[in-house]
Amino acid sequence: MKQTENLEFDAQHIWHPYTSVTHPSIIHEVVSAEGVHLTLADGRTIIDGMSSWWSTIHGYNHPRLNQAAKQQIDSMSHVMFGGLTHQPAIDLARKLIDITAEPLQKVFFADSGSIAVEVAIKMAIQYWFAQGKTKKKRFLSFRNAYHGDTFGAMAVSDPENGMHNMFESVLAKHLFAPAPSCVNDKDWQESDITEFRQLISEHHGELAAVIVEPLVQGAGGMRFYCPEYLRQIRALCDQYDVLLILDEIATNFGRTGTLFAYQQADIYPDILCLGKALTGGYMTLAATLCTDKVAHGIAADGSGVLMHGPTFMANPLACRVACESIDVLLESDWQQKVKKIEQQLIAELMPYQSMGLVKEVRVKGAIGVVELHQPLDEQMDWLPKFIVDQGVWIRPFRNLIYIMPPFIIQTDDLSCLTVAIGVILEQLSKK
Ligand SMILES: *Cc1c(COP(=O)(O)O)cnc(C)c1O
Repeated sequence: MKQTENLEFDAQHIWHPYTSVTHPSIIHEVVSAEGVHLTLADGRTIIDGMSSWWSTIHGYNHPRLNQAAKQQIDSMSHVMFGGLTHQPAIDLARKLIDITAEPLQKVFFADSGSIAVEVAIKMAIQYWFAQGKTKKKRFLSFRNAYHGDTFGAMAVSDPENGMHNMFESVLAKHLFAPAPSCVNDKDWQESDITEFRQLISEHHGELAAVIVEPLVQGAGGMRFYCPEYLRQIRALCDQYDVLLILDEIATNFGRTGTLFAYQQADIYPDILCLGKALTGGYMTLAATLCTDKVAHGIAADGSGVLMHGPTFMANPLACRVACESIDVLLESDWQQKVKKIEQQLIAELMPYQSMGLVKEVRVKGAIGVVELHQPLDEQMDWLPKFIVDQGVWIRPFRNLIYIMPPFIIQTDDLSCLTVAIGVILEQLSKK
């Protein structure tokens, strides 16, 4: 009864991501979560294949993260960061500087991934403005890129692929290279980067930075590409005096098999955006790191201040949980876990490649993607319920059925997810 009432109220009054208030999508109420399991209000328990959008890498209701949050809440939930500092922010900054590339020495704490991207964009523009290069204020990114939902971030995301195209006329006009398609370094050809090279060589005088998601394009299409592409981008940025921003918000903290995806290319960015898994999925927090070169460049005229300061900047509760999450990760055998998930995803998803409706199956680290020939939009009236009826939480979008489970998932739970994908594909084949 209560449950029906809740869902009715929700449908009438609450927006969910990318939804219409007049045609609300099917919604399930979650009452608790533990490990890789979500318990729904109707009593069912389902296996989470999404890690709540890349974030709950250690699973839900983790004793150590709970403990960290409780301890912090009893001393100080929040205090403004203007003119004040605190141990959780200092500890977290120290950890982030420690685990990222050595040249990244300065940390800006943002309140969400999109804001971390906004801050990165500001840093790059301010850097060049402070050198008197006021023409350098445009950005070069990839087609299929996704960098967030705020206006600066939208403007460097794919201009056509459906997330933001209605805002085209109000967004800043940036440059887009074709989405990288070379997946393995051994298949690399010079022609893979021809258009990118041409864009940066023609426009470097007006380019503040290149911004890309390293190795995995997430919400813009779940596409993978090879480390060599990143190495080439780094070299071109150096050659043409353009900063490199890496948006690791989706890939950070082990998802692709290394702590950060850029490590596979053996390069480092001038500016790095972190988010999503930063607090192990407990609460919202993001960070933008930059090199001393960028930070000192922004302050070049002696008074250059970075113009950003969100109210909940460096929220102590979030910083404290983030510290604990990083410790839990680094103390665990996460590399083996991710490797094992990868091998199991390859073994159990690849067979679906032979199904007629499947265009491609791909796996990287703890990410498994089944790309279909046709978008699923017309299936959305029955598909979400059908998926939950299989005992799993998987949320397809466009032509993609994909999973990125918590790293702690056990073999049989992961099999439930991959088997469910098979059942979903069977069902779709019959339509
Ligand atoms: C999710 C995401 C963002 C935006 O983060 P929010 O916390 O949702 O604002 C930015 N970049 C990438 C690569 C993402 O996956």
